Amino acid sequence: MMMFCDLHMHSTASDGTTLPEELPIIAKAAGVAAIALTDHDTTDGLPSCAEACARVGVQFVPGIEVSTDPGPPPGEPADLPVRRGTQHILGLFVRHDDPKLLQVRNRMQQARDSRNPAIVAKLNELGVNITYEEVERLAAVQGTQIIGRPHIAQVLIDKGYVKSVQDAFARYLRQGAPAYVRRDRLPPKDALDAIHHAGGLAILAHPVQLGLADPAALEHRILRLKELGLDGLETRHADHTAADAARFEALAAKHHLLTGGGSDFHGSRKPVDLGSQHVPMAVYERLHAAWQNRSSRSQFASLS
Ligand code: AMP
Ligand code: FE
Ligand code: FE
Ligand code: ZN
Repeated sequence: MMMFCDLHMHSTASDGTTLPEELPIIAKAAGVAAIALTDHDTTDGLPSCAEACARVGVQFVPGIEVSTDPGPPPGEPADLPVRRGTQHILGLFVRHDDPKLLQVRNRMQQARDSRNPAIVAKLNELGVNITYEEVERLAAVQGTQIIGRPHIAQVLIDKGYVKSVQDAFARYLRQGAPAYVRRDRLPPKDALDAIHHAGGLAILAHPVQLGLADPAALEHRILRLKELGLDGLETRHADHTAADAARFEALAAKHHLLTGGGSDFHGSRKPVDLGSQHVPMAVYERLHAAWQNRSSRSQFASLS
């Protein structure tokens, strides 16, 4: 049987519905030999996932996914409330208790804690009767401290206002919808520095979500991130077509960047299966080698 890896997934520590310790069991059953847990803005799920991976016999990559600010479109003022696209950066092989990464986590949690009640207030103005306490209770039952729109969507489903998570985003929560509230995101340099401080590799997640249709603009953005320390691009992802994946593979090769890939599994919150991107184990092996190479060099540097 051909063995695959899956280097992008979420657990109940952020907005997935699967416990961190259940992920390796699902992976094993799907023929996935290596997984990265990459929860949004938190490493809280990593220790229990690591332990379960060791028990089940799945290679484990401790990770994180950080939302960063793409900045305003060229020539636009910084405070313009326009659509900016999504710029997520994956950290792979990070130390879960790195102080800089924990700082990122706390900063992002604060940004969420000030944005989420504003979303509920907008929903209330639209005649949707939910309270922020209900959202917090749902998150507490799930066991996460990183509360996001998917949790608000779940409350909307439970109270009969919408049919599905997709429905909740389309009607209320997506960028441009009536209950959307922007949240502060990290400058990309801060995310890249924190990931490197934690010993990890930084991979640009789902580049298609940058929303840069113009190939020159896309290449320019990737080069700017590379100057800030980006190590690679996620080429296979549930949102990418085969043509997207090929395009990103070519860009990575051209600019000497590593490549990653994964399903972005969220349990029952997204119609995507763990392992469904069929990412070859060679992708994991290359990243692992690059990471080992770098950590042995930095160890040598700190000795000399
Ligand atoms: P937040 O972190 O609160 O900004 O919420 C972002 C999360 O919501 C993403 O990580 C996705 O899991 C989910 N999401 C974003 N857009 C959609 C959408 N259109 N449909 C379903 N889920 C979405
Ligand atoms: Fe998510
Ligand atoms: Fe993402
Ligand atoms: Zn993700």
